[in-house]
Amino acid sequence: MKYTMLLCLSLFFSLFTVLSQAQTKETFEVQKIAPGLYFHFGHHELPNRENHGGIANIGFVVGKSCVAVLDSGGNPQQGLVLKNTIEKITDVPICYVINSHVHPDHVFGNRSFKGKGVQFIGHKNLARALQLRSAFYLQRSEEQLGVKLTPQDIVLPDIMVADSLTLDLGGRLLTVTAHGSAHTDNDLSVLDKSSQTLWLSDLLFVEHLPVIDGSLKGWLKELKELSLLKVKRVVPGHGPVMGDWPAALKPQVDYLTMLLKEVRSMIKQGKFIEQAIVEAGQTAAGRWALFDAFHKKNVTLVFAELEWED
Ligand SMILES: [Zn+2]
Repeated sequence: MKYTMLLCLSLFFSLFTVLSQAQTKETFEVQKIAPGLYFHFGHHELPNRENHGGIANIGFVVGKSCVAVLDSGGNPQQGLVLKNTIEKITDVPICYVINSHVHPDHVFGNRSFKGKGVQFIGHKNLARALQLRSAFYLQRSEEQLGVKLTPQDIVLPDIMVADSLTLDLGGRLLTVTAHGSAHTDNDLSVLDKSSQTLWLSDLLFVEHLPVIDGSLKGWLKELKELSLLKVKRVVPGHGPVMGDWPAALKPQVDYLTMLLKEVRSMIKQGKFIEQAIVEAGQTAAGRWALFDAFHKKNVTLVFAELEWED
């Protein structure tokens, strides 16, 4: 009896080991969008218990001596799968993990990249934003995504970018730029000079409704400056890679400008926020994925931003 039990236990643990080894070696599909530049594209979904928050575009750039990760994913497991995928494609070590901004679908794979020789890079406001929101994010992750996170999953940046920073990956230069308040108050973009690719993460939404968590006026200002850059392609945080820059920006700029005009006009007419939430920007419904999930929240934030302007 004892022997049978031991045998069962031993078989169970062998199976568990095999399964966990299989799990740690899991990889996913990435698209090579330029030499040495790869992205895994997310779907237009809300974070839930099926996708576990893995909904954003995440990727990596390979230089001669270093790999830079461009957002780590929505949970530690997705981060691990991204890491496995990188290791399957190249022997070049990972030196940098660039966090585009504070949102969980972009940074909660960080823990899987922690280790010797890896530096985390974020906007100068990222650490503060992570600290302010960490308790809420940790709690919500378990409730909504079925992912148990711990304070170790809040990885603060080693290098904070206040203006801009050039990273040399070995024959490949990345320009990391810190932006003023826009999608959030801690947005970074990255220009890969050798492929003339601009990674905007959530500074650009394609197909998916743009989500405001920083400043509408600030975002329009940053987009105006970004539109002047001469690049071959841009990679949004959500949606496909776009080759036509700055034309690719137009739907987002149109939506944000329309919100600005309509909400400003309602405030001037003495309308209340409750009315604005119901009425403003409704002509854009049907043009964007996840409009119902985010539009009213956008109007609420825009109303608060514009209410006291001169
Ligand atoms: Zn975001």
